Amino acid sequence: MIFSFLLSGLLSASSAKAPKYVFLFVGDGMGLAQVSLAEAYRASVQGDSVGFWPTSFSRFPVVTVTTTHCATRRITESAAAGTALATGHKAGEGSLGLDTSGTSRPNLVDLAKARGMATGLATTVSVDHATPGAFYAHVSSRNEFHRIGKQATASKLDFLAGAPFLAPDSAGLPSLWDIAKDSGFGTIHGRAALAARTLPRVMALPAGPARSALPYALDRAKGDTSLVLADLVREGARILERASHKGFFLMAEAGKVDWASHRNDARAMIGEVWDLDSAVQEALAFAKRHPKEVLIVVTADHETGGLALGAGRTGYWTDFGLLRHQTLSQEAMEDSLARPTPAWDGPAAFSALARWTGLGERKGLELDGSDSANLRETLAIAKPKLRAQTLAALATRMLAAKAGIGWTSGAHTAIPVPVYAWGIGADAFQGRLDNTDIHRIIARSFSPGK
Ligand SMILES: [Zn+2]
Repeated sequence: MIFSFLLSGLLSASSAKAPKYVFLFVGDGMGLAQVSLAEAYRASVQGDSVGFWPTSFSRFPVVTVTTTHCATRRITESAAAGTALATGHKAGEGSLGLDTSGTSRPNLVDLAKARGMATGLATTVSVDHATPGAFYAHVSSRNEFHRIGKQATASKLDFLAGAPFLAPDSAGLPSLWDIAKDSGFGTIHGRAALAARTLPRVMALPAGPARSALPYALDRAKGDTSLVLADLVREGARILERASHKGFFLMAEAGKVDWASHRNDARAMIGEVWDLDSAVQEALAFAKRHPKEVLIVVTADHETGGLALGAGRTGYWTDFGLLRHQTLSQEAMEDSLARPTPAWDGPAAFSALARWTGLGERKGLELDGSDSANLRETLAIAKPKLRAQTLAALATRMLAAKAGIGWTSGAHTAIPVPVYAWGIGADAFQGRLDNTDIHRIIARSFSPGK
């Protein structure tokens, strides 16, 4: 059933009609290995230790690759890569919405607006972070958060969702929340408020205390009703659909595939890929209600971590299912271990790590002599924060190594990343692409009668 629906994307793709509704999903740091590990893990926990349980987008009729390099480096970062996707221009690292000469370039939000479409951005990290920022801001540094936030309020966006501004208050300047209100943004908090909202110019934020991102999928408690990316996409599409009869452009970012990959935290990363999949499925559900009117593109800005399905130490053998014993993200383990109570002496830390990861307790996760020596050495670090950090990182690294997962970097890599396309205009994503081509193809799809 789902397969035939997914394949119908190919049939409609051959139509010359332009899509009315365009979804662009960006898995930050999501290379083919991130997607494949998520799929292999899901197969493993279902009892298939050999194959893959595909995400919805892996089954899209069009799958290709895109290069990601920026103007100044082979290995890009999210601001330059986001700028290429948003504006079609290569940028230097760290700048948003500017080409290499420093000129502001129109982005997909501007181009969609110029055609009367509604526009929205959603992310699992803060609304002023590099990837969403590339779709409204023009600044030379991605870290100018107050300026970026101010440009968000000055943008023509109808919907902006994610974690709150990182720097709403800057000395001597008006609060971004006041500016947002004055510029017509209705700021709402939490899932119920978002579901009840019908009118655009919405800033949708999580309920509860301000955090720099939505929680990792892995750290969500059962029955947790906090906002997830799928909510932002579903409700965003609903609000945007009412905002214009000419359709919409909605970009949604899974920002923490990158964060988990920087930490080489495989299990947390997998949860973020599956959360992205749930969000893509919301776009597919929307497409089912709007036959022959939707284009869905899923891609990444770059790969993070140099992830490999296979590791030197385990040769040809893998057991990704071992990751199921990890019940907390590395970040959450680190936060717990950094707290002053309980006193993290050797036995307390060992038993906590065993509880959170299965290390030293579960079959396949036995500790050998060098593992124990490494753990003991880490426990001897005097500074509590550094000890917590090193312990949590060591535990996730050990787990990855025992499962047959390789990480070569704590930074980004230059490997091309996948592009998945479905629906009207999907067949334009063909052959080896550059990230600037993705902008070009989507921008062209905005102009009916081309
Ligand atoms: Zn990154």
